[in-house]
Amino acid sequence: MSAAVDTLPDMLARLKLTAMRDRLDGLLDEAARGDLSLRETLALLCRAEVSHREERRIQMATSIAKFPHQRTLEGFDYSAQPSLDPRQVRDLATCRWVANGDALLIQGPPGVGKSHLAIALGREAVRHGYSVLFTPATALVTMLVQGHAEGKLEQRLAQLAKPKLLIVDEFGYLPFEPAAAHLLFQLVSRRYERGSILITSNRAVGDWGTVLGDEVVATAILDRLMHHSHVLTIRGDSYRLREKRRSGLLKATPAPASAGAS
Ligand code: ADP
Ligand code: MG
Repeated sequence: MSAAVDTLPDMLARLKLTAMRDRLDGLLDEAARGDLSLRETLALLCRAEVSHREERRIQMATSIAKFPHQRTLEGFDYSAQPSLDPRQVRDLATCRWVANGDALLIQGPPGVGKSHLAIALGREAVRHGYSVLFTPATALVTMLVQGHAEGKLEQRLAQLAKPKLLIVDEFGYLPFEPAAAHLLFQLVSRRYERGSILITSNRAVGDWGTVLGDEVVATAILDRLMHHSHVLTIRGDSYRLREKRRSGLLKATPAPASAGAS
């Protein structure tokens, strides 16, 4: 079909402006109702296309990131974690640290919202246009160990070096096998000053040698991670237990004997 006889929807489809094509009548009605000028009408049409593409990009990047749950910063209750400074989290939500390739360590006991914040900050990074990959620490190590055994370590390292932000969740919940420390060191070196790593852990940095089973390699890994880094430390109660206590399923923790009666 020649361009001369193409209808407007046909031409929009050929130009791959599908949101404009699909919403053409509604948008033109809206422009007429609002008495928009030609330029304003064109802007209205373009805005529809641009926001549709942005939505699709975010959907695609979110599915590539493999977040295990949907968690948002809006859904985080700061009043439950007074040890956390909301300003620090808001600052991290700007994703400047991701742009700079910095590391972020979120540490604290189980149930205090480490994974929640990791996912929520990962989502912010996606919104800001960065590629993200979320992986539990054990799965990451398995992937590296298997890659190594199959002679595909290089391929795995390249794959894991690609996303601008790599989120490693639950570092330290399980001890790693002996080969893991060196493989993790290779990964951290590969990503060093190129991409960001976000690690959540229930273990203090001083325990990483024990977790990795190798003090020297743990120090070398920390040296690279901590060079440009941010740390969020959450102290306090598990959110789940707190909710249960509130609903009466669990008894409140008894106050220490030295505490006043008030
Ligand atoms: P952690 O990773 O520190 O063990 P999670 O992030 O998995 O803890 O939190 C456990 C559950 O409690 C999750 O469903 C999480 O969304 C929720 N949660 C934890 N802290 C908060 C909070 N401050 N506000 C809202 N939900 C929270
Ligand atoms: Mg967790």
